Amino acid sequence: MSVNFLIHSAKEIQAVIDANASEIEKLDQEIGDGDHIFNVQRGIKLVIELEAVIKDLPMSKALNQIAMKVLSGIGGSSGALFGTLFMTMAKGNDIDNGVDYKKAIEIFADGVEAVKQRGKADVGEKTMMDVLIPVSNCLKKGVEDNKDVKEILKEAIEVAEKAMFSTKDLLATKGRASFLGERAKGHIDPGARSSQLMIKTVCESVLNS
Ligand code: ADP
Ligand code: MG
Repeated sequence: MSVNFLIHSAKEIQAVIDANASEIEKLDQEIGDGDHIFNVQRGIKLVIELEAVIKDLPMSKALNQIAMKVLSGIGGSSGALFGTLFMTMAKGNDIDNGVDYKKAIEIFADGVEAVKQRGKADVGEKTMMDVLIPVSNCLKKGVEDNKDVKEILKEAIEVAEKAMFSTKDLLATKGRASFLGERAKGHIDPGARSSQLMIKTVCESVLNS
């Protein structure tokens, strides 16, 4: 994983999120305050605009710049949570000497763990953690089991999609949707949907490379 790959991925994610914007907007209108798509699109735009600043930086510094931008530039829960993800990835051990797929999975998993601590949400609470935690576990398990990287990524795409759909029938116990009680049931969590689309995009990008 190179800084170039990060920038390239952000551009691919932008296209996918834009193509699904009305669906994501509607999901947050149903169980939140409707701003999730705006927060996500703004975050992606800010990251892409960093291209000239980060393209020649070592990985740790590039990820840190992305984290700062996301933390300061995006409102809502998403800013703090995605900022924490990148901030933690930036602190990954020895990442300036190259990030292979095992290292990428390790720092992503550390990032997800930090987001879990930050937001105090676990699986089953109808948030993006319902997608991020199972995907992180699937990736780590794939490495432990010495699976082929393509196999691991295909599995992660499937796990993410299943996890995203699983939020539909959950009651929300964290975030704005928790104020709705039973009325949150029947709607997919917007953060779970946007996270699933981002994960799918990055995994497919590696699979097609
Ligand atoms: P806000 O909820 O502040 O309006 P967004 O609309 O950008 O922020 O993001 C909403 C998404 O954030 C939710 O759909 C959910 O996935 C996620 N979320 C909310 N609270 C938490 C939390 N404590 N931990 C993890 N994710 C959360
Ligand atoms: Mg919102």
